[in-house]
Amino acid sequence: MKDQLARFPRLGIAHLPTPLEPMKRLTAHLAPDGNGPRLWVKREDCTGVGLGGNKLRKLDYVLSEAVASGADTLVSGGVVQSNSQRQVAAAAARLGFHCHLAVYHGRLAPPAPDYERTGNALLNRLFGATLHDVPWNGDRNGAIRDLAEQLQAQGRKPYLVPYGVSSPLGAVAYASTVVEIAAQAEALGFTPHAIVHCSGSGATQAGLVVGARACLPTTRVVGIDIDAEPERVRADVLRFAEGAADLLGEPFFPEGVEVVAGLAGPAYGVPHAATVEAIRLGAALEALVLDPVYSGKGLAGLIALIRTGRWTAGQDIVFIHTGGAPALFAYRHLFD
Ligand SMILES: *Cc1c(COP(=O)(O)O)cnc(C)c1O
Repeated sequence: MKDQLARFPRLGIAHLPTPLEPMKRLTAHLAPDGNGPRLWVKREDCTGVGLGGNKLRKLDYVLSEAVASGADTLVSGGVVQSNSQRQVAAAAARLGFHCHLAVYHGRLAPPAPDYERTGNALLNRLFGATLHDVPWNGDRNGAIRDLAEQLQAQGRKPYLVPYGVSSPLGAVAYASTVVEIAAQAEALGFTPHAIVHCSGSGATQAGLVVGARACLPTTRVVGIDIDAEPERVRADVLRFAEGAADLLGEPFFPEGVEVVAGLAGPAYGVPHAATVEAIRLGAALEALVLDPVYSGKGLAGLIALIRTGRWTAGQDIVFIHTGGAPALFAYRHLFD
């Protein structure tokens, strides 16, 4: 897998490898008598540029294409508190691209009065992105494509970064996470029984599945659906995994794709009590800053699966902290 990945150019702006750390206090909290799995965290929140997150790893590969294409403008989009578009804006600032973002309104009701001014929305403006307000209509890439066409008609050279930086190449990038986990876990003396993370636009899980098949074949990848749309998530993961396997010259095994439904609240961007509990536990026990849209729901899903007894003592579970901390500030009312 390492050699195949080396064929894909990387910009080197993301801080990689990210650390793999034990979560000893959370492990003990969830199983005080030592009868639960050992928990680890892969710090994909520590990818560096503009407060980091999982999209930076994808962008490190995907934007090589933007640079090679001679583009002058990155075009992407997402909801008001999207971590993805904030990381595109940060990478654009770092690399000297203009950045235009389609900001989707209406996918969720603003949870707080300052939702549109704080967190990722504030950072987008600081990074110098031009924001275009558009209504959410369920088509994730439609308004981004329209915006790219408009900019092209104005004489710009746009490079389109898809919603969530999810594409076959974005998934290829995420296979590199498993190469890192395999080496780090070996040095720490364990083989992960499972890798657990939250899944949204799908390329993160797609890359993990393809990477795990090649470098950690006994490790199960478990995606927690945070969209309350498990069939859509599963279909996208399958599509990107197939595309990534093809690009890497690896066989594709759809049975490696597991999307767990029903553990992450009623809807996208709407946290439930277990999300709030997970965010509190992550912070108080491990000093992790999780968010109410993605990573907090991912940890809530992991905790729920542990409480159902899915894993036993002696098994090692790696939770991927995919980032999202800036969005926490748009939901501060949950913690007042
Ligand atoms: C985008 C995102 C995810 C989900 O990754 P996908 O590749 O879109 O499935 C998870 N966590 C955070 C914090 C994100 O921003």
